[in-house]
Formats: sequence, C-alpha cells, structure tokens
Amino acid sequence: MRRDTRTTVVAGNWKMNMTPSQTTLLINEMKTALPENPACKVVLCVPFVDIAAAVEAVKGSVIEIGAENVHFESKGAYTGEISASMLVECGVKYVIVGHSERRQYFAETDETVNLRAKAALEAGLTAIICVGETLTEREQGVTAETVARQTKIALMGVSEEMLKNVIIAYEPVWAIGTGRTATAEQANEVCGIIRDVVKALYGEKAAEAITVQYGGSMNAKNAKELLSKTNVDGGLIGGASLKAPDFAEIVKASDQ
Ligand code: PEP
Repeated sequence: MRRDTRTTVVAGNWKMNMTPSQTTLLINEMKTALPENPACKVVLCVPFVDIAAAVEAVKGSVIEIGAENVHFESKGAYTGEISASMLVECGVKYVIVGHSERRQYFAETDETVNLRAKAALEAGLTAIICVGETLTEREQGVTAETVARQTKIALMGVSEEMLKNVIIAYEPVWAIGTGRTATAEQANEVCGIIRDVVKALYGEKAAEAITVQYGGSMNAKNAKELLSKTNVDGGLIGGASLKAPDFAEIVKASDQ
C-alpha cells in the first residue's frame, strides 16, 4: 500500500445476508472488535433493507455505510429498484457497482456498470466499481485486457473531479466466495494494470491517488500479505465481513 498518496479502504460486502436485527447485533460486535483508530477507512455495504439499522448502529464509530447496488435512473417506473438520491437520504456514503454476482446473475454489462457508476457519483456517493476476469479468461491469458476494458468502459464520462470518489475493486471472479485467493503477486500485478489504465486516461497524479482494492476470499489469515503490496489499497471482503473478529483482523492488517 502507498498510504502517503492514497487512502486504504477495507469494505465489507454482506451480499444477501443479515436481517435488520442481525445487522444491529453484528455492527455492535464489530464496534468492539475494531481498533479505535484504524489505518484505513472502514465501510460496510449492506442489503437495502438493513441500511436504516446499519446507519443507526454505526453512530459514534469509524464505520461508514454503503449499499450493494444502485439504479442509474433518478426515479420512475423501475419496480424494485433504488436510486442514488434515495441512498444518500438514508445516510449511505458508498455503493458497490458491477459486482461479478450482478454481472453473472442479473445481466449487468460494462455499459450498465458505467451508467450506475455515473449516477452514484453525480449524487455524491463513492462508487466501488468491481472488475475482474473469469477463470476461463485467466486461463486464456486475457486477464489484462478484460480488466482494462471493464475499467475503461466503467469510467466513460467520469470527470477527473468525479474520479476522486471512485474506488476500483479488482475481484477475480474465480476467487469470489470460493476460498481460492489470488496470490499477493497476482493481486498486485492486476491492481497495477488497473492503475496504468487510470494513468492513461487521467494522468499520473490521478493514478497515484486512486484506491484500488483487491477482493476474493480475503480473510484474517491472508490479508496481511495481500495488503502489503504496493498496488493493493485495501480490500472488498465478502464472507469474512460477516464475522466481526475476522473483519477486525483484516482492518488491523491495513496498518503496515
Ligand atoms: C465479494 O463479495 O466481493 C467477495 C470478495 O467475496 P468473498 O470475500 O467471500 O470472496
């Protein structure tokens, strides 16, 4: 990590887990387990229905709340969808955009990821934009071009000013929820490729400033090594963010 030029962010992604009452209990546990002054920003991205309970529970702590998705239209006949301004009014600061589970199961495309990212940024949210190759793409040797394409399209129409509220999460699809983690070297290499794309689009200063996380089976045991790499500025954490002691260990591992 390069904490002199950029912010380290450890963010949990609860996916479709936890009811509102369970949210309150888990966040109270986290507040006890987390260090008082962590070396990173700490975010929990929770299901829509848990946002109110989460925003209430994190009061007085270092934890900030994110959502797991956002629709790109500001309002209208989009049954079941949630807009960026709705999230803002509920106290949400971050939103995950283009998670591979949304791309895989809900027909999310590079283009809709771009629309969602812009809607989030225009509303003042920080967008955690997920990119990453499938196992087939890695085996075919097209990891670099896959993440470069996803990053470029996600950032289309995003100004340099808006980029300050963008986090890119490198999440190899084969490592998500599988227990199979990318090696620290693989994570560092691809996070570096993403930074190079940002450099080509926005210049060196922007590339040095942007937070690029790694996500994919990061846990209490492997976090220290992954977070020691110069291009890895934090993590997007699925399974381990549902266990307060494990999530706290990952946050502590950012202190290096
Ligand atoms: C994720 O959901 O973004 C993720 C990285 O999940 P896990 O940590 O469980 O692999």
